[in-house]
Amino acid sequence: MGRYDGRVAVITGAARGIGFGTAQRFAAEGASVAILDLDEASAQEAAARIETIGDARAIGVGCDVADGAAAEAAVQRVVDELGGIHVLVNNAGITRDNLLFKMTEEDWDLVMNVHLKGAFNMTKAAQKHFVEQRYGKILNLSSVSALGNRGQANYSAAKMGVQGFTRTLGIELGPFGINANAIAPGFIATEMTDATAARVKMSVEDFRAAAAEANPVKRVGFPEDIAAAAAFLCSDEASYITGQTLYVDGGAKLG
Ligand code: NAP
Repeated sequence: MGRYDGRVAVITGAARGIGFGTAQRFAAEGASVAILDLDEASAQEAAARIETIGDARAIGVGCDVADGAAAEAAVQRVVDELGGIHVLVNNAGITRDNLLFKMTEEDWDLVMNVHLKGAFNMTKAAQKHFVEQRYGKILNLSSVSALGNRGQANYSAAKMGVQGFTRTLGIELGPFGINANAIAPGFIATEMTDATAARVKMSVEDFRAAAAEANPVKRVGFPEDIAAAAAFLCSDEASYITGQTLYVDGGAKLG
């Protein structure tokens, strides 16, 4: 008997990284999962890997979350193919880092469109079903960068925006049996942080070692660390928690 038996969880940007780790965790706890990602073939390949976990059911759906019509169609496809929707994890993300004076308008818009508009589009599409059934769990991915990070004016603004969005969802949707929370990860070892290593001209190993050394718990985080917190926040055990942002960062923001 798993905490997510009979539940359908939709996770965006889940072909790899934190999203994939979270999908694996929900599946291991009994959920049917829908892997949404830009590239349908990658999403389906990830779903096939999830289906090797016990008797988990998983589908892969190609969807650009920044496109409202695509988000709406993807949610409907999940409901049609998996029989409903109970959990939405807004995880899809990109970085386009640069110092403010070099940041282009396009890079500002791209980051806002994926993180903020993407979360808005997906949540709007899912909430109709959640409100109707008087049940739903929304989890948004923020970041420690919400507190400010050199070279990430676009990303930090989007990630703090995610926190305000989450609080507002908590207020508006609470009366309908819907919880909305956010997780703000610190350094998590994924292709996103590997790409940052390349940008600052460090090897992945050295970059991770430096991040671990600077962290109070002396290690970097892994997708499993976020997945464990996600599985709690989207469970019925957390039904009195809403509108919150949980920093899962090894205490990094304390420094
Ligand atoms: P990742 O490894 O780069 O994976 C992100 C996934 O999102 C990719 O599969 C990507 O697809 C997909 N994606 C990008 N744009 C999309 C769109 N418009 N529609 C649908 N899917 C899209 O990133 P991650 O490290 O797992 O990060 C996941 C989330 O956690 C992000 O929101 C990120 O900002 C946040 N976060 C990460 C860290 C960290 O240290 N890793 C820290 C704090 C917060 P493509 O491969 O096709 O681009």
